[in-house]
Amino acid sequence: MRILLVEDDPLIAEAVKASLSDETHAVEHVADGRDALMMLSVQEYGFVLLDLGLPGVDGMTVLRTLRQAPAPKNAVPVIILTARDALQARLDGLDAGADDYLVKPFHISELIARMRAVLRRKNQAVDNTLTNGTITLDIQDKTAAVKDNPKPIALSRREYALLAALLARPGAILSKRSLEERIYEPGEEPESNAVEYLIHSLRKKLGPQVIKNVRGLGWMVDKSSH
Ligand code: CA
Repeated sequence: MRILLVEDDPLIAEAVKASLSDETHAVEHVADGRDALMMLSVQEYGFVLLDLGLPGVDGMTVLRTLRQAPAPKNAVPVIILTARDALQARLDGLDAGADDYLVKPFHISELIARMRAVLRRKNQAVDNTLTNGTITLDIQDKTAAVKDNPKPIALSRREYALLAALLARPGAILSKRSLEERIYEPGEEPESNAVEYLIHSLRKKLGPQVIKNVRGLGWMVDKSSH
């Protein structure tokens, strides 16, 4: 599992990093809120450990921004590491979407136990799909299935990204521009008809009616009918 550790106290960062890193866990450390947002926008993590008091952008802003990101990035488990013992700061953190919090100083074994508990809870609760009732997208396998035919259909990376953007907000019209932002990795050069081309190939795979064009505005998938 890839873990992002956001912590500006070098001693705590070093201790956490040293204890969590092993053959199965890679810990990436940043000490600044802006760096955290940058890493989170380009990389998918299995866990985020987030200090609240940070230079650049504070931890609460990092958390709120992360929770507004497109799925599945927004669903990453987050434990807040905070020196603020105040009840309000903890409540704000949980409100903003943290899964748990630890007040510093904490013992590494407690951190590990909390991380395990959060993962257990999440894995039970997480349904790895996005659906509008007609199309179901498997976030893990990056495949789609159409209602009444459970056979998974393979998607290209960009087809998946485009469909995930639409299924994250059924009933909402997404413009060509906003879809373009979803299908390209940072640094990729946009091609002028890429969105139209991907819609065409998704309709071929999933059926002509699954993605609707709203003339002049963009595209959408229907809201669940049940
Ligand atoms: Ca701090």
